[in-house]
Amino acid sequence: MKADVLFPINAGAFTYLVPEEFESRIKIGARVLAPFRRGKKIGIVQSVQRRAQISDSRKIILKSIEGLLDDEPFLPENLLNIIQWTGQYYLSNSGLALKNAVPSAFFTGKKAGRSRINYDEKIKKAKTLDLTGEQINALSEINSTDKGVFLLHGVTGSGKTEVYIRAIKSLHEGREAIVLVPEIAITAQMIERFRSNFGDSVVFFHSGLSIGERITQWRKMRNGEIKVVIGVRSAVFAPFENIGLIVVDEEQEASYKQFEGLRYSARDVALARGQLEGFKLILGSATPSMEAYYNAKNGKFRYLELTQRVEQRPLPDVEIIDMTKEEKQTFSMSSKLLKALKDNVGSGHQSLIMLNRRGYSPFFMCTDCGHTYKCPACSITLIYHKDTNTLNCHYCGSFLYPEVQCPNCKGTKIKHLGAGTQRVEEEIISLIPEMSFKRMDRDTTQKKLSHYRIIKQMEEKKIDMLLGTQMVAKGHDFPDVTLSAVISADIALNMPDFRTAERAFQLFTQLAGRAGRGDAHGKAYIQTYEPEHYVFDYVRDHDYKGFYDKEIELRKELSYPPFSKLVRIVFNFKTKESAKNIMKDISKKMKTAEGSGVEILGPAPAPIAKIRNLWRWHLILKGKNSKVLRKKSTEILEMLKDIKDVRTDVDVNPISML
Ligand code: ADP
Ligand code: ZN
Repeated sequence: MKADVLFPINAGAFTYLVPEEFESRIKIGARVLAPFRRGKKIGIVQSVQRRAQISDSRKIILKSIEGLLDDEPFLPENLLNIIQWTGQYYLSNSGLALKNAVPSAFFTGKKAGRSRINYDEKIKKAKTLDLTGEQINALSEINSTDKGVFLLHGVTGSGKTEVYIRAIKSLHEGREAIVLVPEIAITAQMIERFRSNFGDSVVFFHSGLSIGERITQWRKMRNGEIKVVIGVRSAVFAPFENIGLIVVDEEQEASYKQFEGLRYSARDVALARGQLEGFKLILGSATPSMEAYYNAKNGKFRYLELTQRVEQRPLPDVEIIDMTKEEKQTFSMSSKLLKALKDNVGSGHQSLIMLNRRGYSPFFMCTDCGHTYKCPACSITLIYHKDTNTLNCHYCGSFLYPEVQCPNCKGTKIKHLGAGTQRVEEEIISLIPEMSFKRMDRDTTQKKLSHYRIIKQMEEKKIDMLLGTQMVAKGHDFPDVTLSAVISADIALNMPDFRTAERAFQLFTQLAGRAGRGDAHGKAYIQTYEPEHYVFDYVRDHDYKGFYDKEIELRKELSYPPFSKLVRIVFNFKTKESAKNIMKDISKKMKTAEGSGVEILGPAPAPIAKIRNLWRWHLILKGKNSKVLRKKSTEILEMLKDIKDVRTDVDVNPISML
């Protein structure tokens, strides 16, 4: 007997002999110990072949499996299937998918640690809300079937979460549910809401868990002790066998997509899992992705709408502040916004302010010669961080100490152009000293759970304001926030990517939607130097459909998604010269590869030409049919396999083109 064994490494399955003593006991999905290179490794049995099935054309001497770790399948078959699907779909391999899907401690034997979040021990019983008419309609549609995909399009604060909870409660006895949330949305509040409804049968799978707790909770899911899991990306691989429902909250969020290694989208894996295992899904959003809404319009998804906030609370008024005209108090603060902030803190309400750039200033410039600092390893301008007095690269993490004299002309007049969150923080401290607030960006949330703690302070009204990057814009339900603001909309509007307008619309709408979720009316301010941009026409009126209609025309013209699918191949080189030379070759090869329903764009230098000392070129393959496109991509990768001195990364359905 032989067995194909999958290890949690970047490779497909390996074939081993099964010693006779194991033949009757070995099971698909069980863990085995097998010799690997010079050592041993724990892997999963992916398949077994009886002697009769073995065709011995290959004259490879196989090694033997040395031990069985499980008598019963450690991974259920359905999970093994979706792991294999993921490896294939993303033009990667099942080993890497396994690595992403199952806590690594199960393959290393490591045990460690305790949980670092302590939830309140006592569980408050949920108060029963009277659903709104729209909630009732949505719920009865969802409950009327066991299969299919629903797009639940509900404005911010319309009670989508309540619909998720009820839909889970309505599942047939024994059915399990997964609720996927963007990392950011897991707040103490949300945890409490689910615990008050599901008690100890719900777990939270997030980055704050220790290895030990990860293992314990995974086992509980596997044993059927737990019925509901809320988690980020990797929770889509929860080891349930009888899933009834997966919810993907804020399905448009970029954080569902992994940016390194296996570039999978948890939303798309959830959709595939739904098809393979035959259960239903709810994709929830206030601002659905173009793809999701397009699918809903074409009848692929069933469309459910919540047009009203609960208790008829109005949506916030949105005011676009024209920074080319408006009087300014400081570099980044208009008089109008400043006054509104002061009034808001004066009246005892909370505020949320977003600037989508961390650090102090993006340009540390010599005013004599115009010199700015670039990262030596990346083709990126360095961002000045005042707290550490460093110039940081936000791509590779390296930094420099600025010199007193300009390294170019020896001038000493240095100017800060542009602002990051640190600079706005400094401005607010001097402009509104009585305001207590926290800054929330990647720099202040380095430590595990620091993010969670800041949110908790906001929830408990210990601070008046939260200032931060896009982290502050999403998911939170702070009833006392009546003012939200974007310091500079222009950062989001000036990205060289076809999804820029879509992202900007989503981000501004989300941020605006944080305001006025309680009893008091909310107002949102957006400062921009480009007030005529079409995005604002729709943000101002909360007009998702208007925005969609405009944007879909542009996509159609260029036949970008949802009218096509994309695969992006990035080539990384050690030197600029070898990049040029090798890309010439690749370019020639691509000429012969074109055709059969797949368009090849490039190769061309990537918008960010160098990261971590690697020169980057890319190729974008575009096709109407996903299967054809992936087949073509595989052929191309095969064609390029023998080229030396290049590292190739493949991204199926990329969401960043930089
Ligand atoms: P969304 O997820 O759409 O942003 P939530 O589900 O968080 O909205 O609901 C917003 C707020 O309204 C929450 O505090 C929630 O408890 C409350 N809520 C939800 N449904 C109802 C209802 N039918 N009646 C009263 N309050 C509700
Ligand atoms: Zn760098």
